[in-house]
Amino acid sequence: MRPNLLDPFFTAITTLPGIGPKLEKLYRRLLGREDEPRLVDLLFHLPHGAIDRRARPKLREVDPGSVVTVKVTVDRHRPAPPGRDRAPHLIYASDDTGDLVLTYFRARRDYLEKLFPVGETRYISGTTAFYDGMLQMVHPDRVVDEKGLAALPMIEPVYPLTEGITANMIVKAVDAALSKVPELPEWQDPAFQIKNGFPAFGPALHILHRPQDMDDLAPEGPARTRLAYDELLASQLALGLMRAHNRKRAGRAHAGDGHLRRAIIAALPYSLTLSQHRALDAIVADLSKPERMVRLLQGDVGSGKTVVALLAAAAVIESGRQAALMAPTEILARQHFNTIAPLAEAVGLRAAILTGRERGKDRAALLDQLSSGEINILVGTHALFQDDVTFRDLALAIVDEQHRFGVHQRLALVNKGEAVDMLVTTATPIPRTLVLTYFGDMDISELREKPAGRQPIDTRTIPLDRLAEVTDAVGRALQEGQRIYWVCPLVEESETSDLAAAEDRFKTLRKRFGSAVDLVHGQMRGSEKDEAMRRFSIGETQLLVSTTVIEVGVDVPEATVMVIEHAERFGLAQLHQLRGRIGRGHGKSTCLLLYRAPLGETAKARLAIMRETEDGFRIAEEDLKLRGEGDVLGTRQSGMPAFRIASPEAHGHLLPAARDDARLILTRDAALASERGKALRILLALFERDDAIRLIDAG
Ligand code: ADP
Ligand code: MG
Repeated sequence: MRPNLLDPFFTAITTLPGIGPKLEKLYRRLLGREDEPRLVDLLFHLPHGAIDRRARPKLREVDPGSVVTVKVTVDRHRPAPPGRDRAPHLIYASDDTGDLVLTYFRARRDYLEKLFPVGETRYISGTTAFYDGMLQMVHPDRVVDEKGLAALPMIEPVYPLTEGITANMIVKAVDAALSKVPELPEWQDPAFQIKNGFPAFGPALHILHRPQDMDDLAPEGPARTRLAYDELLASQLALGLMRAHNRKRAGRAHAGDGHLRRAIIAALPYSLTLSQHRALDAIVADLSKPERMVRLLQGDVGSGKTVVALLAAAAVIESGRQAALMAPTEILARQHFNTIAPLAEAVGLRAAILTGRERGKDRAALLDQLSSGEINILVGTHALFQDDVTFRDLALAIVDEQHRFGVHQRLALVNKGEAVDMLVTTATPIPRTLVLTYFGDMDISELREKPAGRQPIDTRTIPLDRLAEVTDAVGRALQEGQRIYWVCPLVEESETSDLAAAEDRFKTLRKRFGSAVDLVHGQMRGSEKDEAMRRFSIGETQLLVSTTVIEVGVDVPEATVMVIEHAERFGLAQLHQLRGRIGRGHGKSTCLLLYRAPLGETAKARLAIMRETEDGFRIAEEDLKLRGEGDVLGTRQSGMPAFRIASPEAHGHLLPAARDDARLILTRDAALASERGKALRILLALFERDDAIRLIDAG
């Protein structure tokens, strides 16, 4: 499948000299590979910086603090006095303009005396300092003689490292790997390449690993840009191929005559917003076409995606088919079900729920009704794509909060029907550049307006040492009958310590405010969670302490206060999601972000943004800026291939070009059969997007 030409890239790094099983394990960690790392992984592990050793001043000209390479004569040693291990071993050296003291802590005397023979010339490279009235260098990076100087890289790449792998080891391994890089046919458009000053692929790798100039490493420099563009083009091509393939697998026209939709809309206690109408129109237009729909419905928390999803489901049910809605958590699935079921029933539809909790006879009965078609819309969790779940005729899969699901999980659901249309909803507003990156030209509907009647949330940041005041204020709010979320911090990675913090807070609040206080957390049984949510939503309890389980989707319009403890530990997107739980009704809402002072720069910036805006799209953009990388999407969890070379900040602007390029290529040469097409196949294989090639070759 993979062109033989690329074999060297995909051989194990253990074939390199000096890398055995022990190092291989460390390289797995360093290169983020679960399987055996290959040369390509090492070669795409680019330096994140470089040390410039080119400055070669005389000692008198040295600027203390700078990195220099100096030529000196070794004058004398002053070893640490016996019994005083802590004292450094000093070496005095000089040139004809001045003196330099080399300082070593805890180094072996015989080793140093061999490294610095008195009376000889040495070239020494490292960071200088002015200390005790003397020019010094503590633990020089490099010490070489005349011969060694020739081999000393004057621009030394700096690689991300892991314990047990030194800079030298990586340099050697990369050298060996670079020597195996074959010449590859050019896949870039020649005019585009010239215009951008791109080196060829192999030379670009070379330049980045063995820079001759500091500029060589710049993210915007030609070498890095070339590789980033290669990567983006590969991903856009793969997405294009996938899409073309999906298009060819003819879909079915699913949308019916509109009678159910009209009935549901008439039964709603509110009227749809303009953007809800628009989104629905776009979805129905897709459903009516004999092509597969893959549409993303983006809308900030509380923007009303669920009802749009229900109306989309109604459209396919009108034509006698079924719909499924998959949510990432049990709480969310139940919540959706609770919203959907009464509306569905009002117009004579059957909705059902299937999660890990439905078992035994009930579950069997439900599955029967599903395969017979009695159930029109099935809401659930991962349980939906279990093997024995069969639909009579599934036409629409709605996947909520999709970034929590892997690609294969989405496919598992889509495969439960024939030519199933897919609607993905997400409350994490994904910046346009990221959407393009991960979904290609997937169609997008956005719900940008909030439903009418919503009031802005008053967001305040308060240091934790004023907790007592906050608690008093919460007490007053309780007395006024308000409903309050109190979110406890992520203490550590582990859920148990998380839980302990929430339980402690619950205890103190309960002691003070009595039975109005309740607790919900991720380790409770599903039914207990539901029960806690139910009590809170009907006002039986008023203050709900929780871990972040309430993060997504939970909808209690009466809740008007949210306290978030240790807000500085949460990401911006998460804070926004959490805050979105309030401000959903007509009451005025307040969000109190409690933080432990002093705040770091990033945390400070995050909290400031939270105070400033409620616009999820703006928050997502700011989040991207603060965090860098595609973290916003939770790329790791999502099963989306992460980018190894391209970064959204430095190379995001190339995406439209890569997309247009990919489109043009596929319009002209859909089978990638031309000369350039063949080279592009190599590109796809190199970036491991060649799954897509199988699609075209299978015809
Ligand atoms: P999302 O899933 O986008 O976070 P929901 O679909 O849960 O938002 O909607 C939030 C709340 O807004 C729900 O209580 C829903 O009934 C209500 N809602 C939805 N659309 C409208 C609308 N057009 N006008 C008023 N309320 C609406
Ligand atoms: Mg269709």
